[in-house]
Amino acid sequence: AKEAGRDGFQFYTAEMNTKVHERLALQEAMRHGIAHCEFYLLYQPQVDLQTGRIFAVEALVRWKHPTQGVISPVHFIPLAEETGLIVPLGDWVLNEACRQNKAWQDAGLSPVNVSVNVSGRQFHEKNWICRVTRALRESGMEARYLELELTESLLMRNVDQAIATMKELQALGVHFAIDDFGTGYSSLSALKNLPVARLKIDQSFIRNLARDENDRGIAAAVISLGQRLNMRVIAEGVETDEQFAFLHDNHCDEIQGYHFSRPIKSKAIEDLLRSQTAM
Ligand code: C2E
Ligand code: CA
Ligand code: CA
Ligand code: CA
Repeated sequence: AKEAGRDGFQFYTAEMNTKVHERLALQEAMRHGIAHCEFYLLYQPQVDLQTGRIFAVEALVRWKHPTQGVISPVHFIPLAEETGLIVPLGDWVLNEACRQNKAWQDAGLSPVNVSVNVSGRQFHEKNWICRVTRALRESGMEARYLELELTESLLMRNVDQAIATMKELQALGVHFAIDDFGTGYSSLSALKNLPVARLKIDQSFIRNLARDENDRGIAAAVISLGQRLNMRVIAEGVETDEQFAFLHDNHCDEIQGYHFSRPIKSKAIEDLLRSQTAM
């Protein structure tokens, strides 16, 4: 029994060591990757349902690992948040997104907003407001073209603090969206006090719209709720004609999803914006 116990224990530590080792290796590779510009941004159009025009693009980060190829953010953002590497990485994303959007504007394309995802770790950094201000100053992009996407769970963790920070940035002209709406625990009283321009209905409610009557109920209710609170409502993960038709019929303001476009490289966005400038 003692032997088995010892083996069990050794097995456990060996496995733990592997896990810890893998995490350390990933962390180290990420640190290296940040220093060596292995990260890049794709952009996904956000489209006005009435006009069909692109009014914004969401910046979505990718990691081109030298040996493993392109890595999705779902595989490295959580560790980046745990280790704090999200702070330098997030800074890079913010700066690059603002720089790129200003470059499109300078090239004479019809101006759009750029949406940037912000994690809790970034948002609660002491000098967060200063980091945003710097990105705006250094890019020369006007603050009103920047939208920051915050998840519901981030916002609800410390609502009063979040509102204070948001109000300071809002005074500069920055806008906010609540990302993944419906997956966290928003209290309605908190929601009404948040300085938020846009609600993003989480894709989990959009995915089964055609099959699930409850999801249709939720989507329709969130559309009304947001609009009653003077927010624009955008549905994400819109892939099919059926989903599109439902959202259109229920007066959703905007859509984002493969139905219109996948996340694409900046050059491809440029072509889309150019054809819409010509319209
Ligand atoms: P998110 O902010 O909810 O972004 C939407 C995700 O849905 C993106 O995945 C996008 O590619 C995907 N998507 C868009 N349209 C469709 C569709 O029609 N169908 C389906 N099935 N998926 C669609 P992605 O790019 O892999 O990003 C995953 C998550 O990683 C993001 O979810 C966000 O939470 C995080 N993330 C990405 N970039 C950043 C970043 O720069 N900073 C931070 N903090 N998080 C980021
Ligand atoms: Ca987002
Ligand atoms: Ca989302
Ligand atoms: Ca999400």
